Amino acid sequence: MITAIENATYTLTDVIELREWEEAAECYMSIPEDLRIPCAHCGKPCQRLYEVTRDQDGHKFLIGPSCCKKNLFGWEPEKQVARQMEKDAEKLAKNKGHQKLVDLATSIAEEVRSLPLPEIVLVGTKYGHPAYGMLNSKVAIVCREGLTNERVRTIIDSWKREQVRIRVASIENAKKREKVLAIACGMLMI
Ligand SMILES: [Zn+2]
Repeated sequence: MITAIENATYTLTDVIELREWEEAAECYMSIPEDLRIPCAHCGKPCQRLYEVTRDQDGHKFLIGPSCCKKNLFGWEPEKQVARQMEKDAEKLAKNKGHQKLVDLATSIAEEVRSLPLPEIVLVGTKYGHPAYGMLNSKVAIVCREGLTNERVRTIIDSWKREQVRIRVASIENAKKREKVLAIACGMLMI
């Protein structure tokens, strides 16, 4: 808790966002009460805090934004500074949220890239033309002119896309699933 120093002055030095930005859902994820940090002024557990530094001794306090706005010891941060720092904290959280999806996509892309390519096999006919695919796969690509280099590339790309789809299927949130799929496919250039 804050112990008052006579005639102390304070500076807002940071805004700390404890919540994580969920990029796919485009919102913050609320965090459980026991992971929140209690406001050094009123003790209320907060998900976002202002780091307030006492100019006289450099002591830092984490204060809930609402306490800061209620004239903490006759002081409150400059609104413009507070707003800017809040924006920066949000940007940081959003970058982290995006990075999480990129990390997930990277590991999926790396896994798919390292898979040995199965044999290309004739899987049937489609519209009266032979269709080729891969062993243990649902890929079926019509090859009117037979297995040209272009068709082989298309089959391999479709198979890789299928492998990415299999790996993102466990992601519950549909938006998140589609984003990870898009990022991973981009990494694989398919
Ligand atoms: Zn408070």
